[in-house]
Amino acid sequence: MLNDLDRRRLLTVLAVGTAAALAGCARPGQALTATGAPAGPVPRPIPAPPPPVRVVHPAPTHQATTAPAATEQAPHELVSDPPPVAGLPEVITHLPATALPGAIALTIDDGFSSETVAAYVAFAQASGVHLTFNPNGMYGPIWDKHAFVLRGLIDAGQVQIGNHTFSHKDMRRLSDRKLTEEIERNDAWIQQTFGVTSRPYLRPPFGFRNQRTDQVAGELGYPKVLMWNGSFGDAAVLTEEVLLAQARKWLRPGVLMLGHANHPTITHLYPQLLALIAERGLTPQTLDEAFGTSRDVGF
Ligand SMILES: [Zn+2]
Repeated sequence: MLNDLDRRRLLTVLAVGTAAALAGCARPGQALTATGAPAGPVPRPIPAPPPPVRVVHPAPTHQATTAPAATEQAPHELVSDPPPVAGLPEVITHLPATALPGAIALTIDDGFSSETVAAYVAFAQASGVHLTFNPNGMYGPIWDKHAFVLRGLIDAGQVQIGNHTFSHKDMRRLSDRKLTEEIERNDAWIQQTFGVTSRPYLRPPFGFRNQRTDQVAGELGYPKVLMWNGSFGDAAVLTEEVLLAQARKWLRPGVLMLGHANHPTITHLYPQLLALIAERGLTPQTLDEAFGTSRDVGF
């Protein structure tokens, strides 16, 4: 039984956890307000990478038949990719009715913690759990170290990479031109690093979007604006107890789950998460699996 002090502490952490639960991502060291909006600008943790490399698009069928294997890929070799196909934007908050009965999608954003990214990649490799990462190219030095392993998991269809813009700015505050640059620069980095396009999925940083940003994304080949209806709440630093409570609350059939590779707390809870997934008969899927999209065509 909890004594009064313990109960007060628990209520306090639960209140903090709930406020953060459905919030989008924050920058390192950045506090979230009660609405989940970032409290203010902080310095970037990693210097800006070199300018994006333009990717030349060959015939649409190229990747399906002739993409080189990951083991043959030089680290910075450009990868051919299907061309973007514009589409009417659709804001996605949950898995489609056509998904498997127990399907869930784990979508893990950002990646500013080297330790957390490494643990997530090892977890994917060891567990075989299907998941989608939405990394920012500004954290390229962290993700690049795992490119070889991730390419293998991507080729096997176990892992998918979505777009989360290059430098994680509020898209609503960017001009069409800047927004286009943020999206295309990140996909160029993703193609270079992981050998696949992130199209058609764009996760808006902080979940901030509007009709104009959706429209720009759709025209660039990102008609699937990826929101969520469940969250580990780990944009902020949580205790293991609070994070696990979030998992118990939200990991249900059909959930489009938001998580972050930013703080190591979740990396201590993988056995519990696997147990929960098994106990509830859930099947984690990539976005391609859940929505019937394809890396070969990018939509
Ligand atoms: Zn984010």
